[in-house]
Amino acid sequence: MHFIDLKAQYATLKTDIDAAIHRVLDHGQYIMGPEVKQLETALAERVGAKHCVTVSSGTEALLIALMALDLQPGDEVITTPFTFAATAEVIALLGARPVFVDIEPDTCNLDPSRIEAAITPRTRAIMPVSLYGQVADMAEINAIAARHRLPVIEDAAQSFGATYRSGGHPGHSGHLSTIGCTSFFPSKPLGCYGDGGALFTDDDTLAQAAREIRVHGQSARYTHTRVGLGGRMDTLQCAVVLAKLPRFDWELQRRRELGARYHQLLAPLVAQHPGFGLLTVRPDRDSVWGQYTVFVPQRAKVQAALQAAGIPTAVHYPKPLHHQAAYAAFCCPDCCPNSVAAADRVMSLPMSPDLSEADQDRVVAALADALASVCADA
Ligand SMILES: *Cc1c(COP(=O)(O)O)cnc(C)c1O
Repeated sequence: MHFIDLKAQYATLKTDIDAAIHRVLDHGQYIMGPEVKQLETALAERVGAKHCVTVSSGTEALLIALMALDLQPGDEVITTPFTFAATAEVIALLGARPVFVDIEPDTCNLDPSRIEAAITPRTRAIMPVSLYGQVADMAEINAIAARHRLPVIEDAAQSFGATYRSGGHPGHSGHLSTIGCTSFFPSKPLGCYGDGGALFTDDDTLAQAAREIRVHGQSARYTHTRVGLGGRMDTLQCAVVLAKLPRFDWELQRRRELGARYHQLLAPLVAQHPGFGLLTVRPDRDSVWGQYTVFVPQRAKVQAALQAAGIPTAVHYPKPLHHQAAYAAFCCPDCCPNSVAAADRVMSLPMSPDLSEADQDRVVAALADALASVCADA
């Protein structure tokens, strides 16, 4: 069993993906070829954004977003410590300071009720992460940001395709804030076959800045109006994502169904085993289950038992960033206890649109056995 089954996806799309790749090989515009604009147009339309700017990775999308906002050394950006390192890394790379605010224990997303206490005169932005595929509490975060005149950058690397209905307006992850950033890393909900990413905004000035920054700060050829970087997404990778788009809605539907099915099948184990728990999905939004993550007691033993049963698992993430050597100086170790507690207990189960229900049943049965044996030992 695969943790994420990318081979089955390629098998069903092979004809279209191979043809798309060969079109690029034939026209030869490997950098900024026509597929780049085609993908940007398709994705902007999909989320309802005025602008989509493709870039070389999700990390670069976050970095370019902060550069477009002109983040300066010494500035502060409020974010969560319970995320992949890239979120805080780009803040630190610019000489700014990630200010870690704790998560909600039941969704593992940034807790908006803790944000205002962390705002200082140096705060320049708020960067929530829509972790595991569920949109963060963007309505509340945007309201706080508006009161303090701060931009919001949604890290939507794990949640592209998810929707949000707070306030009665259906919105798409990636287009719920000043700038939304996503990743096309192969294992993300919409992946390419290498590195890629995109940012979304309705702001013309920010979009123009992002377009210049991704090509070394050029406003025209060899006219460098700002400091930028080499951050373009390859034409080939854009062609791969374009070829995957026709199947994407079906894949999102499968993710939602499999997530709901995991929830239903695992619910009885919550009552049986103290320490076992499921993520909460808030009623005004959905999750595309970029990861299907649960809370388990004695994780190392549960993972070993599952591995012995042929079930791959992963941990997203074993340590919150403020406990990582590179970021420890930005926060005290006792801060963000919910993030510390989550990092001790989270475990992700196999999830991808091509996971079969039979395999999902095997995962659930093996997990039930593993929990029964570790709980009996305890
Ligand atoms: C994957 C990921 C990124 C980085 O994306 P890359 O395309 O791998 O650079 C950033 N933030 C989060 C939350 C991610 O999961």
